[in-house]
Amino acid sequence: MDCIFCKIVKGEIPSNKVLENDKFLAFHDINPIAPVHVLIIPKEHFAKFDETPAELMPELAEFIKNVAKELNITDYRLITNNGSNAGQEVFHLHIHMVANPNGKLLWPKL
Ligand code: ADP
Repeated sequence: MDCIFCKIVKGEIPSNKVLENDKFLAFHDINPIAPVHVLIIPKEHFAKFDETPAELMPELAEFIKNVAKELNITDYRLITNNGSNAGQEVFHLHIHMVANPNGKLLWPKL
């Protein structure tokens, strides 16, 4: 399958890794929109949030908390774009973690 994030998982495309375990990977977004902008993905390919098994979510949540610990941040925003009309461009589930460790996260404001 020609999926850019699967290639990152396999090491075929380089990434700036933050944290990894057997099921998940976190790496810095190549085009950051905030001082901290990390993408969190399952290693297994699921195209988007609503195609991802609910059973994976508790472990994903724990992993996300560990990413924040690794980055030494307590305040952050999580975003996932589910579908092209929501802005999704890469069809491998990813959670955007954005933060400004030095102050308020002014943008994007939801
Ligand atoms: P959007 O680009 O509108 O945020 P997505 O929610 O699908 O759409 O996000 C894809 C994200 O993946 C973008 O933030 C983009 O900068 C990032 N990205 C694309 N290719 C890479 C890569 N090789 N390494 C790191 N981040 C990447």
